[in-house]
Amino acid sequence: MLYLTMTAPAAPRPRLWTPSRVLVTRSAAERPHGQRILARLEAAGVSDVELLRSDRLPNLRGDGDRAAFMRAKDTLAVVVGAPSRRRLQPIPPSADWRFDLAEGCPAHCQYCYLAGSLTGPPITRVFADLDEVLAGLDAHVGRGSVTTGTAGRGAEGTTFEASCYTDPLAIEHLTGGLAAAVTHFGTHDWPGPVQLRATTKFDDVAGLLDLPHHGRTRLRFSVNAASVARRFEGGTAPVPARLAALAALATAGWPVGLTIAPIMPVEGWREEYGDLLDAVAALLPPDADLTVECITHRFTPNSRATLIEWYPRTRLEMDVDRRTTKRGKFGAVKHVYPRETMAGLRSWFEAALAERLPQARLLYWT
Ligand code: SF4
Repeated sequence: MLYLTMTAPAAPRPRLWTPSRVLVTRSAAERPHGQRILARLEAAGVSDVELLRSDRLPNLRGDGDRAAFMRAKDTLAVVVGAPSRRRLQPIPPSADWRFDLAEGCPAHCQYCYLAGSLTGPPITRVFADLDEVLAGLDAHVGRGSVTTGTAGRGAEGTTFEASCYTDPLAIEHLTGGLAAAVTHFGTHDWPGPVQLRATTKFDDVAGLLDLPHHGRTRLRFSVNAASVARRFEGGTAPVPARLAALAALATAGWPVGLTIAPIMPVEGWREEYGDLLDAVAALLPPDADLTVECITHRFTPNSRATLIEWYPRTRLEMDVDRRTTKRGKFGAVKHVYPRETMAGLRSWFEAALAERLPQARLLYWT
């Protein structure tokens, strides 16, 4: 598929998720953001909304079979986050801090990075205590070691990543959480420079375009080679639609980004990734504030086991013998491409980005 065939922002119909079941805990229903979500669910015509009498979610594990997995994937829970969530964690290499609008995602990417990080049935939990979470961010401004005060990325200010455990745009039509966060970042009187960061594989940006972002939110679009997206990214917006959304935001003056991930050396990868970068160059206004983040495919023993259970017929390459094992700070094992493969990918991408998107800043390669 040649992305180049699309030379102007089209207006594709966004794919919107409708959960088949919604559970709302008692505390979540009492929070203003919880009530806003309930109103949106009603407006969206979601009928199966269960208001729980307590803060406990029912057992959603089922028999652990495929039907239970699909039911969980189609369930939205509105909850209040545990108090421990207010202690923000650093999230290198993306941002100084992470806070969560939600946890879980309704899409079906066969390499999904959530597989190894989240436990329990894969429902999507939205946090109704958003106003309190946003109000607590001031205390972190001026602190952090990923962007704050660094030579390379200090100009971004103190950065907050909101898409670590979810795709916020996948659920935005039901929650409004991303718009609330963008508006807070854009209008709040912060004690120092800040940036909200989020990444998505969806395209429904119409409700975001006119928000008072004041250049303090960078929305990045997660994109990939055509064959990777086609084979492995179920339930997401097609890549050309994501690129049209990227162009629409850039044209409206938003800082934007490409998260090229997970990069895979599939057959014909130079041509496919080249087509992708050409399509971005053709769509973006020349003065777009564009960053690029490159993440190669990797997996852990845990994510591999979970993904094989979720997608038993997957053709995604997760062959430990074809990978190099890396160990993290606490001994956690990660399987990445061998050094020569990595070097070949990296040098190609660095040259291709410099040639095709010379205005873009490459934030990191991993
Ligand atoms: Fe996972 Fe992102 Fe795909 Fe959702 S869109 S399934 S979070 S990789």
